[in-house]
Amino acid sequence: MGREIIVGLHFYQPPREAFHSSLQDISTDSKNQNWTKIIEKQCYEPLAKIGILNKASFDIYQSLLLQLEKIDPKIASVYQQSMKENGIGESFIHPILPDLSLSDKSIVISAGVHRFKEITGISPKIFWPPETAIDKETLEVLVNNGYQGFICAPEQVIQFDGQRSDNSPTLIKLNRGREIIAYPFDRSISSNLAFDPKKNADIFTQMYINPIKEKISSNKLIIAWTDAETFGHHFKYGDKFLSYLLDTSLPNSGLYPVSINDIKFDYSKLFTGKIIERSSWSCPHGNLIRWNGVCGCSSGNDSSWKQPFMETMRFLNNQISLILKQEIGNGYEQLIAENFYHLYGQSIESNNLFDNLIRAKISSLVAQTSCATFFSNPDVSAKINLLYAYQALLYLKESGLSRLVHELETVFINKLNSIYFSSVNSTAFSVLEKMLHQ
Ligand SMILES: [Zn+2]
Repeated sequence: MGREIIVGLHFYQPPREAFHSSLQDISTDSKNQNWTKIIEKQCYEPLAKIGILNKASFDIYQSLLLQLEKIDPKIASVYQQSMKENGIGESFIHPILPDLSLSDKSIVISAGVHRFKEITGISPKIFWPPETAIDKETLEVLVNNGYQGFICAPEQVIQFDGQRSDNSPTLIKLNRGREIIAYPFDRSISSNLAFDPKKNADIFTQMYINPIKEKISSNKLIIAWTDAETFGHHFKYGDKFLSYLLDTSLPNSGLYPVSINDIKFDYSKLFTGKIIERSSWSCPHGNLIRWNGVCGCSSGNDSSWKQPFMETMRFLNNQISLILKQEIGNGYEQLIAENFYHLYGQSIESNNLFDNLIRAKISSLVAQTSCATFFSNPDVSAKINLLYAYQALLYLKESGLSRLVHELETVFINKLNSIYFSSVNSTAFSVLEKMLHQ
């Protein structure tokens, strides 16, 4: 008898260009390459054309979809049309959610739901957290926004009966009797899909999937989820491999790919458990240290800049929250969430105070993007955060709050001047200045 398998893809790229009209020509790449365009040709386009989005579950971050809408609107619309059936939710942009305030978590999670609904007409049920980074407050905000579940790595969940949580959807109890389902993916299949050769899908299934299928009991789900860029960007012809895997190799082994949105549970039979606070799928060292300091993930390279860098980005973002609270008042979060796509995606300048304040806030939130401190070399992605931080100040100035902005800018620049990037022998401020005057 056959059993169900969920194969999921995580589609994500950071925004590579700012949206203020005076900053649009600035490249954040050291070799002036637009990687989203390159990966679109190698991966996003072939995957869409071969019909993967009708066969696999997927999450696509709006920060990427916005770029696809500009690079190739036809391809973007293939993604949009498949979202209702096979898509799950995301937070629009890609900050480490547990590092955000409750108010900022609410803004980005709600902005993602809002856009998902605009595209599909329905609310997303399951969520992919950036880097699967979670804490209890993030899960509370997910439930506030109508989510029933989220994807994570198996080592992020401990079941109360002490069993490993691989592939076992697990009920996590929250405050006031509320609950949310954790969907841990299978670490072994997901890693093999990401890193092993992708030449022959039949052999791949025999080597890596069938042994897992035999090992886990037949009443359990099998969930595999991995970066979509694997197929076509990291591995040439990965689109064809994946298509054959889903259509032929898996069914030949008695495994039938289904959408994660179609999985039904008897809640009373679900395992219960708890999450490891401040954990993720991409750093095993605890407390989300990879994005905030020094850990084994940097393999001995200098990452001492990460802590002051993120602290400075948070300082700016928190100051802008205070300004918004003062100028717009309590409840500004909803106003931002509802306007996120339109004020982010369209570069029409306006003199409207609220529009400029909201764009300043969106910019300072994008300046929290996790890619900056994922790598130990700030030259890879930290420039994106620097550019968006600068854009935040620009929009604040255009909102007419010049005295306030001048004071904030002075403190911010002083902080950037004290952050040293040893890999490029330069301060964070010099890197920003060089980028602005390229
Ligand atoms: Zn680490």
